[in-house]
Amino acid sequence: MAVHTLMSLTWTAVRDLPARRTVALLPAGAVEAHGPHLPLGTDVIIAEAMARAGAQRLSARGYDVLLLPALTFAPAPFASAFAGTLHTPAEATTMTVVAVARSLSTNGIGVTAMANAHHDPANVQALRAAVDAAAHEGLKLVFPDLTRRRWAERLTEEFRSGACHAGRYEGSIVLAERPDLVRRDVMATLTANPRSLVDAIRRGDATFEAAGGADAYFGFPADATADEGRAIVESLGRILEEAVLEALP
Ligand SMILES: [Zn+2]
Repeated sequence: MAVHTLMSLTWTAVRDLPARRTVALLPAGAVEAHGPHLPLGTDVIIAEAMARAGAQRLSARGYDVLLLPALTFAPAPFASAFAGTLHTPAEATTMTVVAVARSLSTNGIGVTAMANAHHDPANVQALRAAVDAAAHEGLKLVFPDLTRRRWAERLTEEFRSGACHAGRYEGSIVLAERPDLVRRDVMATLTANPRSLVDAIRRGDATFEAAGGADAYFGFPADATADEGRAIVESLGRILEEAVLEALP
């Protein structure tokens, strides 16, 4: 079975897919400041890498996989003061995700799974709300939420610590996927910022500045490597595969 890119197919090709053996994957990212060294599109790059890795694994198991174009606009209140961040309404994200799943379901593709890389609480809540709304309509929307312990414990120590924005974890993936977009000279000079965003959110902080990230990064960016990035993408692909398989009848 094959991995298909929706945007490259004709409508007749989609119509002719074996709908019951087809899974749609929706990468979910953001346009958001990621320190002075990583591109604004970092979360889209990571989400697309996760979706591709999951797609390969699912197609090896006999499924046709439809890779959807990424959700790029998202609520991003934590980064909203930084230039280039596009902070859009959470309700728009929820409505869009449900409508995407509904459109696919109308044509027989009954399972849509999200590969989310944008962990701002406003976005995670918007995606959780989409799962609930989809369930009300009888739609199957799969969301392996990486902020949940079950999945987080499969990721790196830095990710679990909550210092998980534009640090070693995200920098490693972008080094593996799009090294041309990393400002390595800047990255090498960045001092560690081990403050936890999870703790900051618990305290009620609502922006990166309040959480102690004046340059829109946390963690250990100078320690990022492409090898680690490739290993993380493999883990993300496994997580997505597992979540989809659990949801299938
Ligand atoms: Zn990110």
